[in-house]
This record gives sequence, structure tokens and C-alpha cells, in this order.
Amino acid sequence: MSTVATERRSVRSGPGDVFQMIRLNEANTRKDLQDITGLSRMTVAQRVDALLAAGLIREAGEGGSTGGRRPSRLEFDVDRSMIAVASVDTTHSRTGLTNLDGTIQVVEDLDIEIGAGPEAVLNELAASFLRLLERTDSSVSDLSGIGVSVPGPVDPHTGRPSQPPIMPGWDDYPIIEHLRKVLPVPVFVENDADAMAYGEQSAVYPNCSALCLVKVSTGIGTGVVIRGSVYHGIDGGAGDIGHIRLAGETALCQCGSRGCLAAVASGRAVAAELASQGVDAHSGRDIRKLVAEGRAETLSLVHEAGRRIGEVMATVISVVNPGVLVISGDLASSALIGGIRETLYPRSLARATRNLDIRLSSLGENAGLIGMARLVVNHLFSADEVNGRLNA
Ligand SMILES: [Zn+2]
Repeated sequence: MSTVATERRSVRSGPGDVFQMIRLNEANTRKDLQDITGLSRMTVAQRVDALLAAGLIREAGEGGSTGGRRPSRLEFDVDRSMIAVASVDTTHSRTGLTNLDGTIQVVEDLDIEIGAGPEAVLNELAASFLRLLERTDSSVSDLSGIGVSVPGPVDPHTGRPSQPPIMPGWDDYPIIEHLRKVLPVPVFVENDADAMAYGEQSAVYPNCSALCLVKVSTGIGTGVVIRGSVYHGIDGGAGDIGHIRLAGETALCQCGSRGCLAAVASGRAVAAELASQGVDAHSGRDIRKLVAEGRAETLSLVHEAGRRIGEVMATVISVVNPGVLVISGDLASSALIGGIRETLYPRSLARATRNLDIRLSSLGENAGLIGMARLVVNHLFSADEVNGRLNA
């Protein structure tokens, strides 16, 4: 029997690997684990017992019927601890606590400008996390990790912002080390559009193997998820489309260049145009309110911003050929999506858009929190991490 077993499968089969199959719902009974790994019944039982003893998995009633006694169903214990998450944006931030499948337990909105600098913003986040723990009768020992998303490129090797155009004072700032001084748990940092794209893909479009998300708030950014993984590029610069130059445009951008997409089509650009018409608007958040109120001049400018974004997204779509393009951020609205469609389709080859679904975000303002929590869990509960923990 053992020869059959070894031939059947060359998968790694340590306790962490068995755990991963359970966490990802590839196998949820001892019998399925035996079948998939080729391990003996005895070895599977030992692995499962070790995972149960460590509190990583739990028994959850009955699995599928096999004719006789119904097998007990095994699942990742998503309530064993929590993740503290934050989406940092230009004029506000949202914090939250989630369980280990990214389900949000509680959130808090903070009015703080990113321009206040990393120390002030991160101290606010840490204080908010402590308040949320108190609100849920929990303590730091209930946290497995922290995830923070920021509106700029993040160096994937250091977790530090990498020359972020709209985050003055944050370049190369040690976010991880700063937060760990207050909350001594593992900390992870991601670009906001990347975290949002991962949230949408993993929670809403799990079968989509290529998804793009464009976030249009005060700034503009794109996140790309390929085969279930965020695509960062070599230095975390992938998807930073806000500073692609548009031919014929000369508006000055925050990055110092002229004619960037963000200088003509971001929430900041729309707000500046409205302000010149006497409307009280400064940020993407202000535009969100005006759109919700159905203000005609705002809707018209947001539609025009969508047209400019569609021009650039046509190129992105041609490179990535995604199945889903999610439109998110403060300006996400039918006016924006209408504008994007108007320029994206005529400028793309039919093959690139034949199976393209352009949708407004389903998770809205929580996309970043959910995506960030799930990314943190992927890091902390990988097969290697769990093998290391159980073999230690
Ligand atoms: Zn720029």
C-alpha cells in the first residue's frame, strides 16, 4: 500500500501541509486527507490530533455522508485569535478587528490627514487598535498580527513606503518597527489598492484567476491579483498608474510632474475644479458626499474623470487581460464607471475585453480591511509557519 501512496502524490505532508489543506477547504475530513496526501490513517490521525491540540483547527459537526458513520468535519479555527487592520488614506483612516477569515468584528473611522506624518498617524492607529480591543473585551494577547495598507507603493522586502507621491514624510519610514513598539505582534504593510484587490478577489471572485482593481479616491492606484496572489512587481511599483502622463495635459501633479492621470482625474483634481467653481471640496471624501447628493456638476466631472481613467485602463487591460475589473474608492459610482466604459472599450481589442466584467466594488470601504486581514493570515498561517511552530 505504501508504494501506491508514494506514487499517488508527491505533495509535502507535514502537519502544516495537512493544516493548509483544511484551511483552504481542499480536504475537510480525515478520509479526504488520507486520499489526497497518501498518508496512512494513523499518520493523518496524528497530524490532526497535533493540529487540534494546538488549537489551529476544530471539529465542526458532520462532513459528507460515506454510507456509514458520518465523518467529523475539520476546519480552520478562525476564532482562535484576531487580526488588527487599518486602511490609511489621505484624509482619513479606518481601523478594525477581524477574525482569521477576515470577517470584520468592529471598525472605527479616524479623521487624520496623512500629511500629519507617520508618527502621528501610526500613534493614532495604535491607540485605535487598543480601543477596539477594549470594546471587544479582548487584549493584545488575542491578536495574531496587524495589517496596514497605505496609499502609495510599498517595498515588498522591507514593508516601508517607497517614494510615495502623496504621503509626505513617509518615504522609507519603518511602519512595522513603529507599531511593534506599542503592539508586539507581527506587522505587515501593503499598498491600499493591492489590499483591496486581494479582498475583492478572495471574498467575491475566488474563481477569477486575473483581477484588476482601480481605486479612485484623492489619488489613483491599481491592484492586480494573478492566480490568487497580489502582483507587486520587483520593487512594489506595479499598478501605480496615477502618474502615467497623458498626452496634451499640462496640469501640475503632486509628484512634481505635469500631465499625470492623477493631476486630471483623481478626487483631488475633481475637488480642485469644483473649488474653482465655488464648491467647498478638497478631497476624494468630499467628492463622495457630493456624488451621493447627486450634484450635477460633480457627476459630470466624475464622468469625465472616468473617461480619462478608461484611456489608461485600456492599456492595463491589454497587458493583464483580467476577467474582472473592480472600480473602487471615493469616486466609485455609476458616473465614473460609465466614463471608464466609454473610453476603455473603443481603445481595447475585442479579445482583451470579451470576457471582462467591469463592476463597482462589492466590499466598499471594507475591501482594504478584509484583504489586509486575509493577507496577514496567509503569512502567519502558511504551511511552513505551522510546520515550524509544531516542530519547535
Ligand atoms: Zn504625478
